[in-house]
Amino acid sequence: MEINACETKITGLIGHPVSHSFSPLIHNFAFELLELNYKYLTFDVLPENLEDALKGIIALGITGVNVTIPHKESVIANLNDVSPEARIIGAVNTIVNDGQRLIGYNTDVFGFTESIKKYKEMIANTPVFIFGAGGSARAVIYSLITNFQPERIVIANRNISRAEGVAIYFSQVLGYKNFEIKELFLPDIAGDIKSSRLIVNTTPIGMHPNINDLPVQSDEFFHEAQIVYDLVYNPPMTKLLKVARNKGAEVVSGIDMLLLQAAKSFELWTGKEMPIAETKKFLLQKLRSKKRKK
Ligand code: NAP
Repeated sequence: MEINACETKITGLIGHPVSHSFSPLIHNFAFELLELNYKYLTFDVLPENLEDALKGIIALGITGVNVTIPHKESVIANLNDVSPEARIIGAVNTIVNDGQRLIGYNTDVFGFTESIKKYKEMIANTPVFIFGAGGSARAVIYSLITNFQPERIVIANRNISRAEGVAIYFSQVLGYKNFEIKELFLPDIAGDIKSSRLIVNTTPIGMHPNINDLPVQSDEFFHEAQIVYDLVYNPPMTKLLKVARNKGAEVVSGIDMLLLQAAKSFELWTGKEMPIAETKKFLLQKLRSKKRKK
């Protein structure tokens, strides 16, 4: 494809740091495959420069950006409008520049919901267990309450008061009251994990380079009637997923959510559907070749 630089539309990622992101690989591959004249760049933006960076999106005519740590929450105050779900979750991971206004979305919700919709009937009216109570946990909890009717949601977190805050917040804004809060790593979470149909890790435990870490120190809570989901996507098959799979559980990799949230951002910017299957194949190949080179 011949690219006329003047017409190239710019998208990208703002965060700090941004150098380890897989998003440029995903979006640039999909742009090229569909022959779209777009580029995806990374912008390392310090918190004190966030407001200026957002003004720059309008001034430079950038089509839109993804937002990552540490700006997902703080960016909201500087946007002209925010989608209702991003407002409730309190985090924006995608911005669209409509010419004069910046509009924020949370496509993590779509990514999580789409990646487990085939398990909808299995999850309904059963207990769900969540490791972690941070930003991605809030997107997961929003998705579960609004789409999957879980019987109860157990949140296990290192910082108990953070988990309690999340439960109180969602019971107020969505009217869902069936939360239980537990401290991570205590023996009393064993029974809750065992009796849960869906178990979701929303902590970074097990992420590269600490790939042998687990949120629980035993495999005895996992069994074949469960779905175990790890939001960690590097490595795509985490130790938690391996352990659960060995006990017969269905497992879902964070790679699925990563691709689906990217696909939703892609659609918001270009109006086109991302070729997900091809992009996933490309991304997994890239990750395998990176691993071989090490
Ligand atoms: P966050 O807002 O910083 O929350 C992190 C959560 O993990 C908190 O609950 C924190 O507990 C807990 N945690 C962190 N380190 C821990 C440790 N060493 N031991 C026990 N608990 C620990 O982060 P986030 O945005 O939710 O992201 C969390 C993970 O999800 C990251 O690995 C991220 O890459 C992944 N993620 C994946 C996708 C995807 O598309 N697959 C999307 C979003 C996020 P405390 O409250 O006690 O500090």
